[in-house]
Amino acid sequence: MDLELRDKVAVITGGSVGIGLAVAEGLAAEGVHLALCARDEARVVQKAKEIAGQSGVRAIGVRADVSKAEDIERFVAIVEKEFGGADILINNAGTGSGETIMDSTDEKWDYYMDLHLMAAVRLTRALVPFMRKRGGGVILNNASICATQPLYYEPIYNTSKAALAMFSKCAANEFIKDNIRVNLINPGLILTPDWVKTAKQLTQGTDTTWEQYLDKIAKDNAPIGRFATPEELAHFFVFMCSPRASYCVGSSYYVDGGWLKVIT
Ligand code: NDP
Repeated sequence: MDLELRDKVAVITGGSVGIGLAVAEGLAAEGVHLALCARDEARVVQKAKEIAGQSGVRAIGVRADVSKAEDIERFVAIVEKEFGGADILINNAGTGSGETIMDSTDEKWDYYMDLHLMAAVRLTRALVPFMRKRGGGVILNNASICATQPLYYEPIYNTSKAALAMFSKCAANEFIKDNIRVNLINPGLILTPDWVKTAKQLTQGTDTTWEQYLDKIAKDNAPIGRFATPEELAHFFVFMCSPRASYCVGSSYYVDGGWLKVIT
């Protein structure tokens, strides 16, 4: 199937590792040029170089902390200078939290709302004018199954991702008249390096290996009984960016191996 993505331009936040990197590689394989951002400049610049070298697309890596409005402004200015705008925006950067409501601070709530919600709001406002000029576009917001099925140990993560879900729906309604399709993707257990690092830390000096630890999490939660690879999830992102997904608008798509316990 030709996904008709050649020579489009995609902006991906958190494109230097894990899910964002896999989506970047998947889009590059379809001929999409890339503007990636992350806080660790050396890593994101290096990954962009590697992708450009492997697939022949143009790819840039930019240091930007998307929880900060000024960094987003600077990133978008670079995207405009290098590519004249973008056709695709993937709001992906994010991370788990870990607290109780009673021990949470206003500062922590503010940070996660900036990272998970306001980054998407600000990037959407900045890039939609370019998409309109190009005749349309795609915005994919990467939330989490936790946006609807919360994990007990991270209420801030759950709540900020739920806010992103509602923003996504509102944006879909507002922008479809401009031929801009907005959708939300809710992954379940995706085996990124961060999961491996955590598992190694938690099992150090115990009788359980990190692999056994992760295997138990998968078997306890997802009916499929395993984690997905970032690439398995990225295939779905790439399809959703394509005009082949032209009737997909304003929805939340779960890629979770059956973990969601209800029908929606
Ligand atoms: P990783 O930790 O592997 O990667 C996160 C990426 O985001 C990195 O490129 C990181 O680079 C970047 N990043 C983090 N904070 C910021 C910031 N403030 N500004 C700019 N870039 C930032 O995460 P995953 O790939 O696992 O997760 C990606 C998204 O998917 C997240 O939003 C997460 O909530 C969601 N998700 C993940 C699941 C999973 O099982 N892995 C399940 C459900 C949802 P750097 O550190 O250099 O900034």
